[in-house]
Amino acid sequence: MLLFDTHAHYDSTQFDEDRDAVLTALPEAGVALALNPGCDIPSSRRAVEYAAKYPHMYAAVGFHPENADEAAEGDIEALRALCREPKVVAVGEIGLDYYWVTEADARARQRELFRAQMQLARETGLPVIVHDREAHADSLDIVREFPDVRGVFHCYSGSAEMAKILVDMGWMISFTGVLTFKNARKAHEVLRMLPPDRLMFETDAPYMAPEPHRGKRCDSRLVCHTVARAAELLSEDAEVLAERTYRNACRFFGIA
Ligand SMILES: [Zn+2]
Repeated sequence: MLLFDTHAHYDSTQFDEDRDAVLTALPEAGVALALNPGCDIPSSRRAVEYAAKYPHMYAAVGFHPENADEAAEGDIEALRALCREPKVVAVGEIGLDYYWVTEADARARQRELFRAQMQLARETGLPVIVHDREAHADSLDIVREFPDVRGVFHCYSGSAEMAKILVDMGWMISFTGVLTFKNARKAHEVLRMLPPDRLMFETDAPYMAPEPHRGKRCDSRLVCHTVARAAELLSEDAEVLAERTYRNACRFFGIA
């Protein structure tokens, strides 16, 4: 299988013991490419380092909404500089997380940071990787303020109606191992209505390990289980689906 894991966090401490071994082993396991998004400035720097060290790694740089309170004056400028590094192909991950954050002021700070990073994407011409957890309406409102910015909703958890709106705007949808879980009926419905060129896969490693590895540490090699389950749901050959979504991701991130 030709696999592109479009979202994996190798800067996580869960890889401190064996990071180099895991990353080095990806291509021989079929993972031809993987993208590490940033969650704050240090983690974005690490994503850029991995991209420099490993030919099969790419990077995105950005502030995760859960870290919105730590964002300081000058951090957008730091991200802007990182956007110019080789193999930085997106601004991410950015967005809104209302699951953990319930206080109105903190949610407002997330929206402000999200808008600032959408503006950065507009200026740099890079696509965005959006994290949206329990914040579908506000996330959609904000991306609609930037009609010239393209992006992906990663670990998609919205409705089919919202996916249709995003697709019409030229956006992508990406699924994690959640697609392999028994209770993923909503995600299955979205998968079936997506145009063939709008779908990508990811692990969100070290989290979200697909069945039959649910609950364990996840790495990019496990993305094959998500692709296989999607192929089953779409009545499509898994190899063909893997290659198609690999090409979707390369096109979306501008990788030749
Ligand atoms: Zn993530």
